[in-house]
Amino acid sequence: MTDSATATTSLSPEYILEHTFGYSGFRGDQEDIIQTLVDGNDALVLMPTGGGKSLCYQIPALARPGCGVVISPLIALMQDQVEALRAAGVAAEFLNSSLAFEQAQDIESRLLRGELELLYLAPERLLQPRTLDLLARADISLFAIDEAHCVSQWGHDFRADYLQLSCLHQRFPQVPRVALTATADQRTRREIATRLDLENARHFVSSFDRPNIQYRITAKSNPKRQLLQFLQSEQQGNAGVVYCLSRSKVESTATWLQEQGFNALPYHAGLPATVRADHQRRFLREEGVIVVATIAFGMGIDKPDVRFVAHLDLPKSIEAYYQETGRAGRDGEPATALLLYGLEDVVKLSQMAAMSEGSEEHKRQERQRLDAMLGLCEITSCRRRALLRYFEEELAADCGNCDTCLEPPATWDASEAARKLMSCIYRTGQRFGAAHVIDVLRGADTEKVRQFEHQQVSTYGIGTDLSANEWRAITRQLVVQGYLRVNAEAFNALQLTELCRPVLREEEPLFLRTLPKQAPKAARPQSRARGAEQELTAEDQPLWDALRALRKRLAEERGVPPYVVFHDATLREMLSARPRNRDEMLAISGIGDSKLERFGDDFLKLLADFAES
Ligand code: ADP
Ligand code: ZN
Repeated sequence: MTDSATATTSLSPEYILEHTFGYSGFRGDQEDIIQTLVDGNDALVLMPTGGGKSLCYQIPALARPGCGVVISPLIALMQDQVEALRAAGVAAEFLNSSLAFEQAQDIESRLLRGELELLYLAPERLLQPRTLDLLARADISLFAIDEAHCVSQWGHDFRADYLQLSCLHQRFPQVPRVALTATADQRTRREIATRLDLENARHFVSSFDRPNIQYRITAKSNPKRQLLQFLQSEQQGNAGVVYCLSRSKVESTATWLQEQGFNALPYHAGLPATVRADHQRRFLREEGVIVVATIAFGMGIDKPDVRFVAHLDLPKSIEAYYQETGRAGRDGEPATALLLYGLEDVVKLSQMAAMSEGSEEHKRQERQRLDAMLGLCEITSCRRRALLRYFEEELAADCGNCDTCLEPPATWDASEAARKLMSCIYRTGQRFGAAHVIDVLRGADTEKVRQFEHQQVSTYGIGTDLSANEWRAITRQLVVQGYLRVNAEAFNALQLTELCRPVLREEEPLFLRTLPKQAPKAARPQSRARGAEQELTAEDQPLWDALRALRKRLAEERGVPPYVVFHDATLREMLSARPRNRDEMLAISGIGDSKLERFGDDFLKLLADFAES
């Protein structure tokens, strides 16, 4: 191409993919979506987190004449998104309340002069009559409505402003629109189509599988030790999120992790806004930060290199679990979702469901969602299949990258132990919680035992063959499988259900997951599945550290997060391919013309220095 003016209006999507973004091929539906928009048609895109939604509007915006307008509710992230585009050589800007008047004016005049390729706006800004007039005077290539599920009144991300975005269709009928979301459920999808006036748009629905996330769900024995072991043996120096249910547990866990030498920061709604903003910023900008958070930390954390999400408490539904774990591994690199759960979670959440405000119907639904979550914890078959089935997607085969696939759980004939537990509950009148029932089984001499004269019942001390922890695991499984129920209206008393009858009569055997004797060996599956390329040899370590240090320095000089310079995947490819010149550098995924120009030589020099020594 010699004439740059025609070049900017006629570049093909493939050319832009390769030269601007440095990638060699499209993923999934990307190519079709991009073509639909380039042709001037509308699209509705459902793709999981990390699926590659951004390119679906960025490339057509560059391929079509005019400026692409991206509507996003996440003002805090606009700057990083724009920085990343600029690093790739794209003329991108954002307009929001954080800009000074002169800055905003400058951007507006550049838009009118046709100098911008992408402009990010918050919905409230877009809907101001002033902005709509501005856009009417500019040349617009497309509208991209990101996080489109914000139009849904059912979800917890609802934004009233989003409802008015249907006006775009009326005011700019000739400009193609694309709405994008990572929310999987059917109801939200239908709502987006109706409310945004996209019924005639082409719908692109991707698989919601996240194959690079390894799902692991483990019984909670000693949560702190289990977490520590996980972090030390698998996640040294990695960024991740640890979710806890309560603010106080967030605080204590963060403090404890700091004492163990981790760069851990608390995040919950009770902290001052400035502290929250600071912790979020450090999570995005620094490397290897662990945020310990309540679910208040979530939407808008679109950091690509979150290597793990650990839950120390049970999420209250599969939807919540999937959304929270989905924040790991957006860059497609191996990531781990670790959930520790125990009897106390089952009891606490049953209680919360029973005590929650709202109608009986609402409580019943909450209870059902919780049961589905508990079922996922206790299944002995592939977790990913069960998860996707919940979202009405059927996997053809077991995944090979979840704990049950990697280490099929052993089961044991627990009929006798279950009978002992059931009789003990029955003999003590179905009036006591798990702790006391287990005390009676194990023949403990506590005040409560003496108060109720439970040394006298026939089941006193018949369970000394198992530890209290083992009895808790059995109890938990029996609750989850519906043999026992926890009566939240009566001090969480354990009660028998109809299912117990055949077991007590010895008509039916009962198999449970084998009880781990110590903390389960959580460390092992990782390295076998997809972790091979993630595991560094001792030889590679110094170069890897040096590459990361260089990336950090370049990022700091520019005041951007490290991933704006290069993603981990790009550094990893550099580590194994060891490019020696600019051509070889350009062949690395994630390096386009502009990044080569900006950072190529610094990295080539580093690699050459290492090759010599
Ligand atoms: P989403 O918005 O759907 O969560 P992103 O657009 O942030 O996903 O993309 C996730 C990651 O995948 C990013 O690191 C992006 O650069 C990368 N990516 C997207 N499309 C491709 C592609 N065709 N080839 C290689 N990497 C890609
Ligand atoms: Zn599996």
